[in-house]
Amino acid sequence: MRLLMAGSPGSGKGTHSRRLSDCLGIPHISTGDLLREQVSLGTELGLNAKTFMDRGDYVPDDVMVNMIKGRLSEPDAEKGFIIDGFPRTVTQADALDKMLADLGQSIDAVIVLDVPVEEMVRRLSGRRTCPTCQRSYHMDDEPPADDERCNDDGTPLERRSDDEPETVRHRLKVYADRTAGVIEHYDTDSVVKRINGEATIDEVHRRIDEALGMA
Ligand code: AMP
Repeated sequence: MRLLMAGSPGSGKGTHSRRLSDCLGIPHISTGDLLREQVSLGTELGLNAKTFMDRGDYVPDDVMVNMIKGRLSEPDAEKGFIIDGFPRTVTQADALDKMLADLGQSIDAVIVLDVPVEEMVRRLSGRRTCPTCQRSYHMDDEPPADDERCNDDGTPLERRSDDEPETVRHRLKVYADRTAGVIEHYDTDSVVKRINGEATIDEVHRRIDEALGMA
């Protein structure tokens, strides 16, 4: 399966992409995670990207398109993938269409997680992330077993710099201005599956399975 996971920051894209990736045995490709990896390696790309990310702005399209092109050409992506956080602009969507057409592939479904704005702000402000494995927690809804450490590898959890309240508000605005319209790009192909994302993680997972015909 070739899936796109869409939805605003805080809608649960990362959580549900990771779950689906485990269930379907296909890679989870998160452009946010790929960028954070470059930031932590201190590469030139990472350092440039960080200036945009810290403000809650988008990294330029050409950088993102090259990044996803490189990742999709890796062997594990041949059998399918879940892309989380890309495309975020119409330019990126056009570039992805072309990339897939060149490979004779197409997108099977675009999952859109719908969550009210106040709930997204609440989720992002309580979110803590493991800098080692990127697993995320919510300090009220899904706290780690041991205080502020990752259940999987014991690394102290961190608040992402772009989850600070001011930056969150800006990210939500950028999403509304630039990404909400990208969904329309796929609407005509009737591949868009809108899911009400305001429920427990298990329930949203069940709704996604049902929408994909896997329930
Ligand atoms: P995420 O982890 O998906 O919330 O992404 C974190 C940040 O990475 C975003 O706020 C953007 O600054 C940047 N980013 C991730 N994916 C993209 C993309 N497709 N286009 C532009 N910027 C992106």
